[in-house]
Formats: sequence, structure tokens, C-alpha cells
Amino acid sequence: MDVHLGIDIGATYVKFGVIDPDGHIEYSSRRLIKGDDGAARAVDTVAVCARELLTWAAEAGHKPVSLGVGSPGTINPITHRVQPPSPNIPEIVGEDFVDLLKQETGLPVMIDNDANCAAWAEYRYGAGRGIDNLICLTIGSGLGSGFIVNGQILRGPTGSAGELGHVSIDWDGPQCPCGNRGCLENYTSATAILKAADEAARFDPQGLLGQVRDADTGQITVRGVLQAAKDGDPPAQMILDDAAHKLAIGILTAVNIVDPEAVIIGGGVADADVAAGSLWLNAITAHLHRHAFSEAGQNLQVGRAVLGNDAGFIGAAALGAQMRSSNSD
Ligand SMILES: [Zn+2]
Repeated sequence: MDVHLGIDIGATYVKFGVIDPDGHIEYSSRRLIKGDDGAARAVDTVAVCARELLTWAAEAGHKPVSLGVGSPGTINPITHRVQPPSPNIPEIVGEDFVDLLKQETGLPVMIDNDANCAAWAEYRYGAGRGIDNLICLTIGSGLGSGFIVNGQILRGPTGSAGELGHVSIDWDGPQCPCGNRGCLENYTSATAILKAADEAARFDPQGLLGQVRDADTGQITVRGVLQAAKDGDPPAQMILDDAAHKLAIGILTAVNIVDPEAVIIGGGVADADVAAGSLWLNAITAHLHRHAFSEAGQNLQVGRAVLGNDAGFIGAAALGAQMRSSNSD
């Protein structure tokens, strides 16, 4: 069987795998980006992942026909190089993964921004199937976003379209790793929510947020904040509602520009637990509908992403498959 390989470069792990022509996962794995000894270069780790995929395909008797890569940062559409900023993995800026992996595998290679890959996966095989206009948000350590417009990824001539996480809503706001201030990501990522929860717990150690610290690590988890909010803790509810409110400002701004049918939200905050995560999605939906300017905003569907951490490599592999089929037409 012809199979498509996908690699998703993340801040901690490289996730990689193989999909069949219908998008089903045939194989998946992950590696620490710095290697187990902490010394390997990210590009070397990516090459090792590609070789592992080739080995798996050979042993399984499948024929790899394309490779797709999802990377942080914006991707120059002409040179395919990773452009700054890539605050979580600065060392990959300037790398040409397409050239490297063509040499490594002999396959046609496609590269796109990681959030675009996740959006494409949800559009083709996940929660957004059949919805030709959608916004896909991944809320984790940052706020990733990919826009599907008329069934195509919105990239723009420099590859930097659809970066909702780095739209500033306050130029005097907190410093963002991208260099700007007050980016949406600084208020709505899991990192931002946990920072606010940690501050609230320090202020009132006897409060519910102070009680949900992980016994082993001493850290507050997203699940802990969601649970505290679900149990009626006012500080936890306020933190989540404030993040939902600011995220809704960003989403509605995008809605007024691209008029999508749905927003699909994935990542730790939406996945944490179905019941508690729904609380957060409902808060976002309420703010969206309250402030919607147009029919588009009032009717906007808000859904949960379904492909989880696999979305990045599935989307990368699917984009590789699409590039190969359009090249052979
Ligand atoms: Zn930023």
C-alpha cells in the first residue's frame, strides 16, 4: 500500500507517524527533540525520525510516497526555510528541512507551519470534516492557529497569515517571546492560565487552587484549574472566564475578516477532561455570541478538536500527499 509519512516538530517532542491514503494512522511514535542525552541538534533528531519511518514502512511492506513536516515558526513559501520568530525552538530558524529530508529519504517533501498542519488534519479527517471555512486553534504552551478558507490553508505570500496568537490586544501588555507585547497568546495559552492560577494560589494557599497542586511536582495543572472552576471556586472561574473573554475578542476579530462556519479548539485546555473542558468551551461560546457583530458570529459553531496530539503529523502527512498528487496531475 502507498503510505504518507508525517513529522511534527514540537518544543519538547518530535511526533511522527504514517497514514494510509484515507488518513488512518498506521504507525506513530515520538522522540525528545534534544535526544535522550540532551545534546543532539533538533535537525539531527528530525533526520533520525525520518529514517525510523522508512524502516517501519520497509518492514511492514508499505511504499512511502511522500513526507510532510510541520514546524514552529513561519515557513518561507519560496525557500521553505523556517523564519523567525520561533521562540520555543530558536535553533531551527533558517533550517531547510525540505532539502535535508529529500536527501535523507529520496521522497518529495512538503513543509508547513505546525498549526496549519493541525488545522488541515482536523479539516480533512477530524472535527472539521466537510467544513470548508474554519479556524482551528491549538491552546497549549502557546496559542497556535490555522485558517481554512474555501477549502485551502490561508498562508499569505510570506507564509505568516492566520497567526491569531500573536495579534496584540494591548501594546502595553505583558512581553511576548515573539518580541511584541500583549499578544493574545499571553492571556489565553495554557501557560498564561497556569501562571494566573499559580499567582492566585500563592495569594490564598488555603483556597481550592492552592489545594489542586500536583502532590509530586508542586505544579498546578490545567486539569486542576478546570476542576476547581467546575467545583465553583471563584478565582479559578475568574481566571478561565478572563482567558475565554480575551480569546473571544481575538476569535471575533478573525470572524469579521474571514467569516468562518466553525472554530475548532484543541490542545490541553480543551482536551483536559470532557466535562471540565466543556465549561471552558461554553465560556468562550457565551462571550462570542454576546459580542458577535454579524450573523456569522452569532451562528458560529465552537467545537472540540478530535485528533489530539496526532493532528500535527497527520496534517503534515496529508499535505505531503496532496502536494504529491497535485504534482502528478
Ligand atoms: Zn507574540
